[in-house]
Amino acid sequence: MSQINEEYIEEYIRSIIPANEGYLREIEEYAIKNHIPIVEKEVAQLLKVLLRIINPKKILEVGTAIGYSALVMASSTTSDCQITTIERREDMAEKAKINIKNSSFRDRIKVLQGDAEDILPTLEEKYDFIFLDAAKGQYLNFFNECTRILNKRGVIMSDNVLFKGMVASDRLVIRRKKTIVKRLRKYLEHINNLEGYESCILPIGDGVALITERSEDNE
Ligand code: SAH
Ligand code: MG
Repeated sequence: MSQINEEYIEEYIRSIIPANEGYLREIEEYAIKNHIPIVEKEVAQLLKVLLRIINPKKILEVGTAIGYSALVMASSTTSDCQITTIERREDMAEKAKINIKNSSFRDRIKVLQGDAEDILPTLEEKYDFIFLDAAKGQYLNFFNECTRILNKRGVIMSDNVLFKGMVASDRLVIRRKKTIVKRLRKYLEHINNLEGYESCILPIGDGVALITERSEDNE
């Protein structure tokens, strides 16, 4: 249980989402077997709907793991949308590259292997959608880099921001996660109070935050 929603709500929502078939299903099964974290079903659905609305041409993901969410994003965007995804672990990045190569989206997803802390400052292109799904303790650092490379009307979505409910209640915090929880709280406070931006927190999956810039034409 995620400690975020009542179990029956989470189970119900997951039960009405149709199961994947083909390679996405195979990757899901591999992830479960090997304890690799991938986006929860309802978060994958949120990604799919958001991307249909936003219609991005450039997507950046921080935290590839084995490429599951990158493939989900590719499947919900048009053929002229390019996805760049960053993964620190070499073994994960290699596995992601194989999964991507075996899909029909091989020409649209590029995996950059390395620490996002080093790679983000080197990125020059602008992105319409950024998915932060790595190293929760570094979100605030990552975020500041991300706003630099976010297009006008772009959206940043961060995953796991409620971190098993610990972010919302001291009662749930376990000692060795104290620092991450503190940093996530700081991150959420920052994005919720950031001048010129609009943000929200959705209590689905492990907690998702969305933020977008208020531009002059939609004040
Ligand atoms: N987005 C994936 C899951 C990512 S799990 C999906 O839903 O399918 C988080 C991943 O982020 C892990 O593979 C971890 O190795 C990677 N990661 C953690 N810190 C990182 C960092 N600083 N830079 C790049 N990748 C990082
Ligand atoms: Mg996640």
